[in-house]
Amino acid sequence: MRILSKSKLMAFRQCPKRLWLEVYHPELRKDSAATQASFAAGYQVGDIARQLYDPKGEGVLIDSQAEGFDAAFARTQRLLQSPQPIFEAGFRAQGALAFADAILPVAQGDQLAWRMVEVKSSTSVKGYHHDDSAVQSYIARASNVPLIGIALAHIDSSWVYPGGGDYQGLLKEQDLTEAVFNRGDEVSSWIAEAQQILATDKVPAIKTGAQCGQPFECGFLAHCRSQEPQAEQPLSWLPGRFNNKLSAHIQAHQVTELRDLPDEFLNDKQRRVKAVAVSGQTYFDQDGAAQNLAPHKLPAYFMDFETIQFSVPIWKGTRPYQQIPFQFSVHHLAPNGILEQQAFLDLSGADPSEAFAQSLINACGNHGPIFVYNAGFETSRIRDLAERLPHLAQPLLALNQRVVDLLPVAREYYYHPNQKGSWSIKAVLPAMCPDLNYADLDGVKDGGMAMDAFIEAISSNTSTTRKKEIEQQLLRYCELDTYAMVRLWAAFSGKVLN
Ligand code: SF4
Repeated sequence: MRILSKSKLMAFRQCPKRLWLEVYHPELRKDSAATQASFAAGYQVGDIARQLYDPKGEGVLIDSQAEGFDAAFARTQRLLQSPQPIFEAGFRAQGALAFADAILPVAQGDQLAWRMVEVKSSTSVKGYHHDDSAVQSYIARASNVPLIGIALAHIDSSWVYPGGGDYQGLLKEQDLTEAVFNRGDEVSSWIAEAQQILATDKVPAIKTGAQCGQPFECGFLAHCRSQEPQAEQPLSWLPGRFNNKLSAHIQAHQVTELRDLPDEFLNDKQRRVKAVAVSGQTYFDQDGAAQNLAPHKLPAYFMDFETIQFSVPIWKGTRPYQQIPFQFSVHHLAPNGILEQQAFLDLSGADPSEAFAQSLINACGNHGPIFVYNAGFETSRIRDLAERLPHLAQPLLALNQRVVDLLPVAREYYYHPNQKGSWSIKAVLPAMCPDLNYADLDGVKDGGMAMDAFIEAISSNTSTTRKKEIEQQLLRYCELDTYAMVRLWAAFSGKVLN
């Protein structure tokens, strides 16, 4: 019988096949950049939690990797005899093992009891946290720890960092004792079922489905999909919600290809996507697009931001996970057709907000439309900046009044077979302007990579040469974003650029 870790049991809870693959074919797992970022956020929050729960530095951190599991379990048992906080305390019982983020002493008369705290980098308590805490508390109690309670500490996204390394208030606790202490039988049955899954040498016959993204994106998705027949033109390309009749038809007839959907169940946009897929012919209502954009006269500006967010804020006055812009590109198209670009990029590691806001206000002039692609993102960042920088609020908010979104224009008037159901600028640009493509960029090619590059650039371990290289990559990437908008605008408007 295998000893199952909590993470293996949670893998089982998501999908028995995931557990089987984790154990027998871990090499097939490919975690996405988002998953890796969430691991990194978890480590950072864990470090801060240790400071918060042990302000006097009296606690002990158990490093099971360095010590080995057996030594870690034995040391935990010894440490439980004295009242100090223990971090990464290890427990083993009933064929399972777990390491607690924090276990804190509680005096009960002359007895020593313990309270467990699980620390998460999420901003609220999720359903799967209950399962996670049920497993933790079950294993600890089964290994005879006098546990009187368990709480989940998550990030309070409304908290504002006061600076100076003071993180009091970053975490918010929710007590889960009542919700999870009586779930021992359930946990025990999960362990037994998981053991059964692992007792066979055959991979469980489970198809990909909703479970692959819930509660986490499964790292085996690419592998599992590669084992299943894939639709040539999948239904996921259809935009918008599926109405009841459409869903019922798909279910009843097991439809997987767009071409097999009856038009009568589709709305206009869905019918268009299906027709383009089936015919291979691009849809482009250029007159409609031009009419839509006609009221917005030159001079015009084309604006794009890159942002960074930290689970644990590093700049005074910012909140956890607040998106803070560190870079912009603005193209300016004058009435005489001259196109110019201005860029801002701060890789100093200091809060870029004030300089960013000042430079943006200067770059956008005082009249003319400001085109963006998916306006909600940029306008929200501008509102955030206006809130944090009241002395610049008026000129910042005035920019938002001039914003015109190109995304709805693309959605309404253009669709190319290669877009495969996406109207992201990275899908529309190479279809409409084949001479431009994000894939041709060196290094940074998307917003996630821009964030990673920013983090690397501001690290004190990064060499000047590498920082310079990142700077060039970021500048080229953001410039392409706004130049792409210029080209899309010209194509939609039927204008020829100089
Ligand atoms: S990708 Fe989906 S089906 Fe495959 S193991 Fe993961 S959750 Fe299970």
